[in-house]
Amino acid sequence: MNHPLAAYEEPTLSCTRCPLSATRTQVVFGSGDPNAELMFVGEAPGFHEDQQGVPFVGQAGQLLEKLLNGIGLSRTDVYIANVLKCRPPGNRDPHPEEIEACESHLFRQIELIRPTLVATLGNFATKLLSGKPAGITRVHGVPQQVTLGGNAVTLYPLYHPAAALYTRSMLAVLEEDFAQIPELLGGSPFVPETQSAVEPERERPLEPAMQLGLF
Ligand code: URA
Repeated sequence: MNHPLAAYEEPTLSCTRCPLSATRTQVVFGSGDPNAELMFVGEAPGFHEDQQGVPFVGQAGQLLEKLLNGIGLSRTDVYIANVLKCRPPGNRDPHPEEIEACESHLFRQIELIRPTLVATLGNFATKLLSGKPAGITRVHGVPQQVTLGGNAVTLYPLYHPAAALYTRSMLAVLEEDFAQIPELLGGSPFVPETQSAVEPERERPLEPAMQLGLF
């Protein structure tokens, strides 16, 4: 029998609740295992996600996959979604009214998937799902107990992989925080390798033109 998430996805693909529906190529609903224990929530689709209809398929997505592989998981073991289901033009930050229009899609996804652990990637997902204004720099790597979709959930804020792509120090923190995930899922503690499993690109700030390709 089909998972109820599929029934919810179908009408969502023609959503017109906010003006992003006029500029998107397609709705990026989410992907992965609808029965996953672990769910990731990012910010919004970027260029590649908008083209392919799948979240985290660009450079940030490749890093997310490597980080998952590093703790013995793959993207088919988890469910991946975003705060916004449609790409903001030019990959600008989501506007508050877009988040407000879209958030019930995410809450319904969480209600139907019933994950025990929700890892928020970056500020937008963290602030929305924690219901608190504290930024990611302060709260990353520290699990919080919350109720989402009527269920008790461990919320686990992480740096957004796009932010870690070019900064070795941030990547190291993200890897360390990732290493706690198996234990948070009830498994054995993960012993990280001494060397970074993921090579950052180059140690330099992002240029706007490159940023376009990232999200
Ligand atoms: N960044 C996000 O937050 N989500 C995606 O799907 C891709 C990049």
